[in-house]
Amino acid sequence: MTRIGVGGIFIECNHFAGHLADLSAFERSELLYGEELAAKNTGVIGGMVSVLEQEDWEPVPLLYASACPGGMVEARTYEKLKGELLSLLANADELDGILLCLHGAGSAQNAPDLEGDLVHAVRELVGDSVPIVATLDLHAHVTPELLTNADVLLAWETYPHADAFETGQRGARAIVDILAGRLNPVMAMAKVPVVVSAINGRTRLPGPFAEIMNEAKRIERQRDLYSVNPILVHPYLDQPDMGGGVMVVANGNLAEATSIAQSLAEQYWEKRFAFQANTLSPREAIGRGSQLEGGPVLLVETADCCGGGAAGDSVHSLRALLEIAPDSPAIVPVVDPIAAQMAYDAGAGRRVIIRLGHQVDPQWGEPINVEGVVSRLSDGRFTYQGGIWDGRSSCMGPSAVFEIGPIQVLISSNATYDWKTEQLDRLELDIPKSKFIVVKNPMNYQQAYSKVMKAAFILDTPGPTPVNTNSLTYTKMNSQWFPRDWTMMNTKPVVMSSTARYSPS
Ligand SMILES: [Zn+2]
Repeated sequence: MTRIGVGGIFIECNHFAGHLADLSAFERSELLYGEELAAKNTGVIGGMVSVLEQEDWEPVPLLYASACPGGMVEARTYEKLKGELLSLLANADELDGILLCLHGAGSAQNAPDLEGDLVHAVRELVGDSVPIVATLDLHAHVTPELLTNADVLLAWETYPHADAFETGQRGARAIVDILAGRLNPVMAMAKVPVVVSAINGRTRLPGPFAEIMNEAKRIERQRDLYSVNPILVHPYLDQPDMGGGVMVVANGNLAEATSIAQSLAEQYWEKRFAFQANTLSPREAIGRGSQLEGGPVLLVETADCCGGGAAGDSVHSLRALLEIAPDSPAIVPVVDPIAAQMAYDAGAGRRVIIRLGHQVDPQWGEPINVEGVVSRLSDGRFTYQGGIWDGRSSCMGPSAVFEIGPIQVLISSNATYDWKTEQLDRLELDIPKSKFIVVKNPMNYQQAYSKVMKAAFILDTPGPTPVNTNSLTYTKMNSQWFPRDWTMMNTKPVVMSSTARYSPS
């Protein structure tokens, strides 16, 4: 029976966030071994397993660890996860292939390029005769170490991300094709130094990234290429050679893969200005929203996006609401375990003064002292409704609704990913009745609130996931990149390529 090792470490990291991702971040999310891993029927791993079962092949579970985006992975946590994955791999009887679910923007204190380091270690263990296929988020930072040690890398094709299962299936089919002798994979990745926020990175038209995605898929079909994957690099890593671009997997023909990756990356460069967005201060946005009839008006505080690795603890928008719209019904999410504990200690129904905000990653602002009523308490457990974590349970930890007049603050203890409105629904917050809702992500709110929102204003506030990447202090990035330098002209893509290991039989 054909046996395929299945596992991975999946996390998106933020080098500007001050907090680390430790083992508890994975334990709260997903840390799967053995039967539990092999039985997964959702997400990337579920997609991989479904294809292996169709083939009557055996998925050999290694380790699968995933966590909500955060700061860097703590050194000893990465050491432990990597060590366990490798030792399970070393102790598995002979394997015919390896399938890994990775993000591509992971970074550990002791391995800045987490995925490159991990795949390199797996390659050293299994040698050149065992194919390694890995799936990535399209927000990956693809490095030469990752590209040369993997045989096939396939990225998600949707943002908002809705194709995790399908991408897992694509990954597993690539292993099937390699082992059947139908695929001799070669890869080329062309990058241009465009490091921009994901705010205009949706894959459905209109938008610059959607145009690149459509063109990539058109060429994939027309030229019968194995896969053409646009990559909008996660902009909050501070690494050399960052950039967006296109990764092409071809069957044997590296020259063709290279020229197509190159020409699509050139188109990416031409579209760079369209990735930028206009922003407002919280006060300007609230002022404009107040002029509109009804609500909800979304205040999009992207700089504090848990889904991009921020702590979620900002109160910049809340402060502005308290100053200029204290009588408007509003919902504001704030991650603050200390304030959540104070709410719990006070108890439901009690009026207290709470110190709130900027207590997880204090570098981006000052806490505020606010008086209000603890109206509800919750253990914070909820289930994701769709997206990459569809059906998976998650936990905000001890959480409270804290009412400052008509402004309801959802105080939670842990950062969680914003897919739809699961967290707000869990605490029974009334979305349609709100005049303002603070949302802390650059993309998913567009679908979550599409039917109810009156307007959405993109804010410019301090934080590690801002719309304007130019406001961050990168130290490892190459000196010239867009939008740091708006005058760069005629930039040619940098091309990397993989190693060919298998010949069609
Ligand atoms: Zn992503």
